[in-house]
Amino acid sequence: MANYSISIVPMIENYPQREKKAEEILLWLSLIGAIKTDVSDCTLGKMGYAVAEGAKKIVEFPEELPFDLPICGLEVFTESHIFTSGEKELSTVICPTCKGDIREYFDTQVHLWESTNNFNICCPLCGAIHPIHAFHYEPIWGFSNLGFKFWNWTDFTYQFIEEFEQKLGCDVRVVYEHL
Ligand SMILES: [Zn+2]
Repeated sequence: MANYSISIVPMIENYPQREKKAEEILLWLSLIGAIKTDVSDCTLGKMGYAVAEGAKKIVEFPEELPFDLPICGLEVFTESHIFTSGEKELSTVICPTCKGDIREYFDTQVHLWESTNNFNICCPLCGAIHPIHAFHYEPIWGFSNLGFKFWNWTDFTYQFIEEFEQKLGCDVRVVYEHL
């Protein structure tokens, strides 16, 4: 079976006190029993926190949770990261000001963003300057120095995503990645 992931990414590129917030979220998720408290080798990235029984209450299809898979954990990111859909490139990037498609330009800017933490992108067509999240892009990607990647989990409930947004104090992007 191919692995996939669902990431919850704050729509804040440079999240303040991200390490502290990551700990808060981990504590919350372990208190509701959604993840195991000990780290283990349960993601395709770093060490993570494996799925636990309480996760059944926060997803739409509890029977699809990866209890019988080795790759079943939550991986936490606290460094600038591009959460992609699995595709190497975006197919469309629309400037919110001039509505022009700046995809080709955006590709290089995105990688610059990751290496320099330069949060604003200037549209080459109209000169408007916007944070990276303000552009409309397809497929959906996320850009932040904080993010929560759930490996092989299934769709979260709307209520859970809302609660996650309350805990983070901002809107989130939910990014589906297929490997
Ligand atoms: Zn523009």
